[in-house]
Amino acid sequence: MNTRVNIKNGDELSILGFGCMRFPTKGGSGNIDEPRSIAMIRDSIEKGVNYFDTAYIYHNGKSESLLGKALLGGYRERVKIATKLPPFMVHKLENAKKIMETQLKRLQTDYIDYYLLHMLTDKPMFDRLVNMGVLEWLEELKADGVIKNIGFSFHGAKMDFEQIVQAYPWDFCQIQYNYLDENNQATKSGLLLATKLGIPVIVMEPLRGGKLVTHLPKQVYDAFASYEQERSPVEWALRWIWNHPEVNVVLSGMSDEAQIQDNIDIACRSTSNSLTPQELEVFEKVKAIMMEKTKVPCTACGYCMPCPAGVDIPGCFSCYNDKYLIGGKGLRLRMKYMQTLGALSVKPANASRCVGCGKCESHCPQNIEIRRQLKTVSKEMEGIIYRPLVGIARKFLKIK
Ligand code: SF4
Ligand code: SF4
Repeated sequence: MNTRVNIKNGDELSILGFGCMRFPTKGGSGNIDEPRSIAMIRDSIEKGVNYFDTAYIYHNGKSESLLGKALLGGYRERVKIATKLPPFMVHKLENAKKIMETQLKRLQTDYIDYYLLHMLTDKPMFDRLVNMGVLEWLEELKADGVIKNIGFSFHGAKMDFEQIVQAYPWDFCQIQYNYLDENNQATKSGLLLATKLGIPVIVMEPLRGGKLVTHLPKQVYDAFASYEQERSPVEWALRWIWNHPEVNVVLSGMSDEAQIQDNIDIACRSTSNSLTPQELEVFEKVKAIMMEKTKVPCTACGYCMPCPAGVDIPGCFSCYNDKYLIGGKGLRLRMKYMQTLGALSVKPANASRCVGCGKCESHCPQNIEIRRQLKTVSKEMEGIIYRPLVGIARKFLKIK
């Protein structure tokens, strides 16, 4: 297994991290197949994986407990555990303290190596936690050795990432990054900014939840197949990320033994700055195909931002483009849209918030009719039930 050294604390981390949100379940019941998952975790450790990423909410709270069980018997000391605090469940500091207590119990450990504020989407969301004293409390836990590193995971727009990453001397951060998201969410410039600030970067969603494996346009498979050496879409996608020396660990939510072996094999033959001009050419072809299938030619440059009504213009177009580029439907698509546009954050940024002032359009180098396109996004991605649904959810979760 190849490793990379954490630039902040010297930890030698396996470049492949185990994402603990997709363990195998028993016969569609949703319950984790424990013996099998435990065997998978231990097998991956024997093969060199030493970074395990879970969260309070994964598998309805069962992921942390499963990981805790799997690491008994001497495995705990061989790995780093990352887990996360769900901001939407924290209304006062006491909530966070209770969650931490539960997490340590579930994980059967007295320290957490990497602790993240889960899924930050915008700066006000971060500020809300700061105002509750969450960071000071985490710093106390760090001084006491209960957590070793303080970080955050991010799903939002580039500008929000830039604000959050510069707002605190983070020990690490976690972003969504893959060849389709080079200009989406934190983007490549976010990755480079974090590195410039000396903040190690963990990458999640390297395969976009499997969509870069099974939901690509046929021409993309053909472009990969045109390369002299046969290589699976998974390998293409992972190699592209590991080619970036700025990436410390890539998390893969592995759900069966074959995937683990395949990911480990790829990790063993992937290094940074190793893609040849021919291989990079294949990616150029792939990106051109993707662009051709793109509904709105937004490059996520951000020149149209900020929008006075708070719309995340590139974020809206990115979700909309994904609908046609890689498919997905119904609830899942809507959930993705809600998450990306901060439906449950303190600063929602969805398309229907556009008030049509037109300030954005003159700044767009792609000459996109932003107002007209946002209306289409709103119609197709939100429909009439979005606002009432989100309103109920926000009321239930007491989000102002
Ligand atoms: S037209 Fe809409 S998206 Fe553009 S700046 Fe005005 S409110 Fe924002
Ligand atoms: S200025 Fe145009 S291309 Fe750039 S992010 Fe805004 S809509 Fe997209």
